[in-house]
This record gives sequence, C-alpha cells and structure tokens, in this order.
Amino acid sequence: MRGDAIYRYLRCAYDLHLRGEYITPKSMAKELNVKRPTAFEFIKKLEERGYLLRDEGGYILTNLGIQEAERVLRNHRLIETLLYRAGVSLDDACLLASKIEMDIADIDVERICEYLGNPTSCPHGKPIPRGEKFERN
Ligand SMILES: [Zn+2]
Repeated sequence: MRGDAIYRYLRCAYDLHLRGEYITPKSMAKELNVKRPTAFEFIKKLEERGYLLRDEGGYILTNLGIQEAERVLRNHRLIETLLYRAGVSLDDACLLASKIEMDIADIDVERICEYLGNPTSCPHGKPIPRGEKFERN
C-alpha cells in the first residue's frame, strides 16, 4: 500500500487532535467521506505503527503520531512555498507538494527551508511546523 493513503488518515487524525476531538471510525469516516469499515481499517494500521492509542472515548494520537503528522505537514508546506515562490499557481503547488511530501529526504527539506529563509507560514497562510532534528535554538 502506498504511504500517502495512510498519511491521509494520519493527517485527518491530526486535524481531529488539534480540534480536541476523539479519533473514531465515525469521526474519520465523516471527515474523509469514506465508509466506517474503511476508516476503521486505517485506524488499525495507524495503531500498528504506534501513531494511535486506544482510549476510552476512541483513539488518541501518540507523540510519535503527532511528530510524524507534523513532519509530513512541514514537508508539504515547504515544498509548496518553494513552488509557489517560483511562480507555480497555489493549487498546482499544493497538488505537487502532496505527491512528494512523503518521499522527500529530511536533508532536502532542510535545504529548501534554508533556501527560502526559514519561512514560518505557507502560501495558504498556515504555520509551518518546525523541524525536530534541526532546531536552531
Ligand atoms: Zn497545500
């Protein structure tokens, strides 16, 4: 299975987490417009990878899950900023970023970040999560 499918669910779990909501097959299915058994299947996969933990009211993101969601989000927003600044339309920049956000090496993301002058938000105006390993202060 391609990593980007599972990332779609991790991203959704992260959004629910940010809103302080429980991660359940029902809430995920609603967010992503899929059937509940499909959402549950992905919840199990995320749990297997250590990204989700079963809790009383549903599932919650683990620190590892939060870290991974933010890492890929950071990749996405830096790639999209690079493309947008180079003249690519925002829609295309976002779409292209989605295609490589999972595959780009951390070192290349840091190169892009440096090149762009360490931006703090993407062209959508959303914050760019800071890198874990390359924290500067
Ligand atoms: Zn985007």
